[in-house]
Amino acid sequence: MHYSSITILYNPKSTGNSKANAEKLHKALQHKGIESDLRPTDHAGHGEELAYELSKASAHPLVISSSGDGGYNEVVNGAMRAKAEGADPTTGVLPSGNANDHYKQVHEGNVVEQIVEGKRRHIDVLTVVTETTDHTHKRYAHSYVGFGVTPEISKELNKAKLNAANEIIISLKSLLKSQPFAIRENGKKQEYQSIVMSNLAKMSKVLGLAKKASEVDDGLFEVFALPPSKPFMFGVIVKSATIGLRYTQQTDKYVFTTIKKQPVQCDGEIFDIKAKATVTVGIEHRALACVV
Ligand SMILES: [Mg+2]
Repeated sequence: MHYSSITILYNPKSTGNSKANAEKLHKALQHKGIESDLRPTDHAGHGEELAYELSKASAHPLVISSSGDGGYNEVVNGAMRAKAEGADPTTGVLPSGNANDHYKQVHEGNVVEQIVEGKRRHIDVLTVVTETTDHTHKRYAHSYVGFGVTPEISKELNKAKLNAANEIIISLKSLLKSQPFAIRENGKKQEYQSIVMSNLAKMSKVLGLAKKASEVDDGLFEVFALPPSKPFMFGVIVKSATIGLRYTQQTDKYVFTTIKKQPVQCDGEIFDIKAKATVTVGIEHRALACVV
């Protein structure tokens, strides 16, 4: 056994297959003679707390999230915070949400066999550091970070029953309602409708943004910065649903200053950044050990 502990987190209140998928993996591992713990989560943020504690509790723990991209974001944040304090966690995700973008892009081979053989991959993880005069805050994202219109779309998507056709309609409605936002870059005020930084080629929960040959372990992320023009954005959505979008920039660091309070979305999890905060989106090269 390559891991000091294996824990499968699931959300018993999830409408998806969170519990069933967790139990299925637990049984499949048992069949191979490997013990694992099933742990239900019971409130928002609980997955992150458990991932942090488990990551610190033994030498080489594996923490698997049976969830969508948002639940896995919590586990990645807990694990990465523990890693920064010297722990050696490995994470994994069993796709149990609506989009499962991360899993679809990163999944390779058989998860049970990878666990049995102790195989793991090291992929890049996005970071968002926000600094105000009295406070510094750091969050991690396994797939993407979005400013502007995307948090609105995510709120609408979370409310709706999803299928491919109405996802695009919701995106459009949400976009047409949304307001452009302004930030300061290199001392200059800039307006945007949306900025998405992504480490994945496809993000169905955002706009179906896509491009060729995005690598999850090349130390770079792609920036999709869209201007505040509704006809332009309309074209972008139609295009992104069919052929995908080209990124506007590929980088390892993107810095700006907020003017007003600014919502940000990390893998679908939304929080607010204060006005006049310095925001640095970065990437930690091959920092996330995972079995996906
Ligand atoms: Mg990359």
